Amino acid sequence: MIIIGPQGCGKGTQAKRLSKNFNIPHISTGDIFREIRKEDTLRGRKVKELIDNGMNVPDKITIPLVKEKLSKLKEGYILDGFPRNIEQSKSLEGIDKVIYLKISDKEVVRRIEGRRNCKKCGAIFNITTAPKPKIEGICNKCGSELFQRDDDKPGQIKKRLKQYHNLTAPLIEFYKDILIEIDGSRDIGEVYSEIISKLSL
Ligand code: AMP
Repeated sequence: MIIIGPQGCGKGTQAKRLSKNFNIPHISTGDIFREIRKEDTLRGRKVKELIDNGMNVPDKITIPLVKEKLSKLKEGYILDGFPRNIEQSKSLEGIDKVIYLKISDKEVVRRIEGRRNCKKCGAIFNITTAPKPKIEGICNKCGSELFQRDDDKPGQIKKRLKQYHNLTAPLIEFYKDILIEIDGSRDIGEVYSEIISKLSL
């Protein structure tokens, strides 16, 4: 299964819930690249530069990396952040369902500007929507410091959104026969319930 939608639509949040509740591996290319970004290698430095500038990592790095991960999984998975363009989708076989979380560009900007991540445990909060940190700048789960991703800063959001419309949105048509469209603008629980019901789980 694939979850697609623009930045901030809730892909990661919903994928994590589905993964936990149904015990299905969750593969997030964003999370993979954020780990690679920390490496003190040529690849790490290249990935860091691209991510921090809100640019996609080239297919020649991304596709083999995902293929290698998926080759180890025999019983299915939830892909989040991949495929991000038609070329990447052509590298995949056997996709059953594509969940498309639809939200407006205005809502993307509002959500991304408010997004804050925990430095230590990776939990995600939002200072304008939900879940809000109880104490400003502090993670509700582990008490560590929150930070804003470089690519979530105002200048980068518009660039990332443009890439989404140019490269990723065409996947909606590409997968139209197996696409489940869901209004992603509602709260996390409502969106999750609709995913479960539309997947007949
Ligand atoms: P995300 O957390 O999905 O917003 O991804 C964060 C960043 O990781 C993106 O802005 C890209 O730089 C990179 N990235 C994640 N997934 C992909 C992908 N499928 N193809 C290329 N770059 C990706």
